[in-house]
Amino acid sequence: MSELALKAEKLDAADELAGVRSQFVLDDVVYLDGNSLGALPVAVPGRVEDVVRRQWGELRIRSWDESGWWTAPERIGDRIAPLVGAAAGQIVVGDSTSINVFKAVVAAVRMAGGSGRDEIVVDATTFPTDGYIASSAARMTGCTVRPVTPAEVPGVLGDRTAAVLLNHVDYRTGRLHDLPALTAAVHAAGAVAVWDLCHSAGALPVGLDEHGVDLAVGCTYKYLNGGPGSPAYLYVRSDLQSRFDSPLPGWNSHAEPFGMRPAYEPAPGALRGRVGTPDILSMLALEAALDVWDADGVSVGAVRAKSLALTDFFLECVASYVPSGRVESVTPVAHAERGSQVALRCADAGDVMARLIERGVVGDFRHPDVLRFGFTPLYVGFADVERAARVLGDLVR
Ligand SMILES: *Cc1c(COP(=O)(O)O)cnc(C)c1O
Repeated sequence: MSELALKAEKLDAADELAGVRSQFVLDDVVYLDGNSLGALPVAVPGRVEDVVRRQWGELRIRSWDESGWWTAPERIGDRIAPLVGAAAGQIVVGDSTSINVFKAVVAAVRMAGGSGRDEIVVDATTFPTDGYIASSAARMTGCTVRPVTPAEVPGVLGDRTAAVLLNHVDYRTGRLHDLPALTAAVHAAGAVAVWDLCHSAGALPVGLDEHGVDLAVGCTYKYLNGGPGSPAYLYVRSDLQSRFDSPLPGWNSHAEPFGMRPAYEPAPGALRGRVGTPDILSMLALEAALDVWDADGVSVGAVRAKSLALTDFFLECVASYVPSGRVESVTPVAHAERGSQVALRCADAGDVMARLIERGVVGDFRHPDVLRFGFTPLYVGFADVERAARVLGDLVR
């Protein structure tokens, strides 16, 4: 056995989260794509079957009350809240991340309140949907978009800034941005901070309340394992809720949804972020998936510690197994700047990833030249990491 394989064995033996893997449906594939689609938790199929057969099939319409369907967006929001450092009553689940970005950015501009604030600052390297939607939101609100790198953000903030939309972790490079410092800078300029947590929630501490974030959105099918297309969430800080003016004021966020009134009157609290009838099947699959976080010893802190150990070990194995110069990591080495993925730049990345997948190591390829490996600490172990780097080394040699 190689030295690194021995080291992996020791690290796995000491891993306090090792047992959590049995709560997921996995095979002998090394699954490093949980930052794109989290693996299926064992408890989900049975729960979904109950929702379909009993709640829908037998209780039918009674389930809106008796099975808690109507209040699921807030209830499940409260389950996500501790994972992102939020007190209860500030998160609703529903719609996609794209739609929640739209709600949050338009509401942020409305909150920033005119008086010459006509710029939306956006991360120029953002996941495309965030940029597209910010541009449309800008056109609708009479603003212009100012795309800059997150490092440039403090330098462009000023009297004209209405809102700033940033990603906590960059989807391509895995770089973790300084949420506390950037949020403070946005506030110092009198603007509203909107954070996209797609690549950080469930992988590392976010501290929404602690750092005074205004609005946040995120998806639930990556590190929260909610399943394909599971609904996203929207966080509105409690003291801002009364000023949250949604651009999508549907009947589900009305103060009296069954009053069927012609005039809109927003409900108090986080449920102001709701729009229409929630996607119950996906939402309750997500609720079941979140049970994994209730197991003994599972906490965001433990997950973060293991995530850093996994990515450190992956970088060590890549340095040892992959001929030098063949790949180059674009993920920061410093822990304070690293999310839960490692992105390797590689000339023929598309082809290399296809061959990795054939050999049982699943990551993904991001255009034009990035091999992306996501590490979900709940089910990825150190032996997986060693094998992934070894297979990569064999392939590119
Ligand atoms: C995954 C991801 C999305 C996905 O948006 P959907 O509306 O769920 O398709 C959006 N933004 C970022 C930053 C992401 O990483």
